[in-house]
Amino acid sequence: MPLSHPRLWLPLLAATLAAMPVGSSVQAQGAAPPSWKAGAASAKITPDTEMWMAGYAARTKPAEGVELDLYAKALVIEDQAGTPWALVTLDLIGIPRNVRLFVAEQVEKQHGIAPERLVLNASHTHSGPELRTERSFATADPAKYYDAAAAYTNKLQSTLVRLIGEAKAKLEPAKLDYCHARCGFAMNRRRPNGKGGYNNAPNPEGPVDLSVPVLRVATANNAGGKELAFIFGYSCHCTTLGHQRFSGDYAGYAQQYLQEAHPGVISMFMNGCGGDQNPYPRNTMELAQAHGRSLATAVEAALTTSFKPLSGKIRAAYREIPLAYDTLPTREQLEAQTKSGTKLDADHATRVLSRLNETGSLPTDYPYPVQVTRLGDQLTWVTLGGEVVVDYALRLKQEIKDPIVWVSGYSNDVMTYIPSLRVWKEGGYEAGEAMKWGTHPTRWSERIEEQIIATVHELRRSLNP
Ligand SMILES: [Zn+2]
Repeated sequence: MPLSHPRLWLPLLAATLAAMPVGSSVQAQGAAPPSWKAGAASAKITPDTEMWMAGYAARTKPAEGVELDLYAKALVIEDQAGTPWALVTLDLIGIPRNVRLFVAEQVEKQHGIAPERLVLNASHTHSGPELRTERSFATADPAKYYDAAAAYTNKLQSTLVRLIGEAKAKLEPAKLDYCHARCGFAMNRRRPNGKGGYNNAPNPEGPVDLSVPVLRVATANNAGGKELAFIFGYSCHCTTLGHQRFSGDYAGYAQQYLQEAHPGVISMFMNGCGGDQNPYPRNTMELAQAHGRSLATAVEAALTTSFKPLSGKIRAAYREIPLAYDTLPTREQLEAQTKSGTKLDADHATRVLSRLNETGSLPTDYPYPVQVTRLGDQLTWVTLGGEVVVDYALRLKQEIKDPIVWVSGYSNDVMTYIPSLRVWKEGGYEAGEAMKWGTHPTRWSERIEEQIIATVHELRRSLNP
């Protein structure tokens, strides 16, 4: 599949900007008044109690300290009509559905920002705390770590609501500029094993999305504009590390390096469609730092290019669709599986059976969140739930005919992997095997890609003109 990148647009304006010094303000040239207001805020969310770590089932003990602090960061933007929009990024494995629902409700109530105008994104670091509040993840003293996860999640929710309020209170006239570059350490991690299956191993022939989209937020009250925030994306698992100390992995380092180089700026990482992408090489702290440096450098490279200024209104649409599961297992099949399958199959069947016993039936679908935001007339931002594989980013960037298209996964609810039809048919971990680690009754249905893509297009159309 070809590499995809946002298409060039308004060549005349781009040429004009190219002739101007980097960072110079369109407004300073005597054009339109600032059409945006922006404010950003940041809070440390490193656990201060003993917690289990998320992402690798093989761990046998809780975290043993902190390598790099974890952060939640919020950006609030208002358009000229005074309609606010909020983005929150998190150095965490994911976003549980209950956290999204609580935060969305409170943010609307307390800060007047409607749920469709709230985007939450997780970096998917595998060196953060375990957030699941089920007694199935910790191999030692599960009740203790269940309670710790529940307490952490409660505190996180109120932190996020407060943080959005802080960012909103800081709103000041701003300008928004888009730019992009590329970064090369992500590689497809689905390698054909020659026996019809796929191994988790670097596959340089597999599809990737190496783009690094950047939204630069700066004040609009003087000639150059003081930088307030950078939001930057990359489609790659945040899994350089599998250590026992808390860390934001490469994404945490990239954010830290950018903030060191730009004092006062809040830098925010948005994971993209990195469900089937890993950072390579991996496994050492030095490599997490090297990848963080590469990504920060790519953001700096993007900042040397001609910016594409955003102007217009903010429009947003959010919908939870009933994403269909495949044919559900019967009670008899599950019971047989608890006795004769592999340990993973047996444990999964036991969890699904207890769901069946609790509720009397298994769900046929999952409320999957799809969100589309238009920031001005230029940028269309698709934010999808789950661990979305790269095919979605490549396809949507080709199909949506707006000047700039940004596609992010790991948004609003990270329930499991989201394979494309291609990956679903190929099989393997991202296609459905991974779902056996949770309580989903079975894999997704064959309609998965069609259901999600059709909804994205429908929501995009609803935001016309
Ligand atoms: Zn993952």
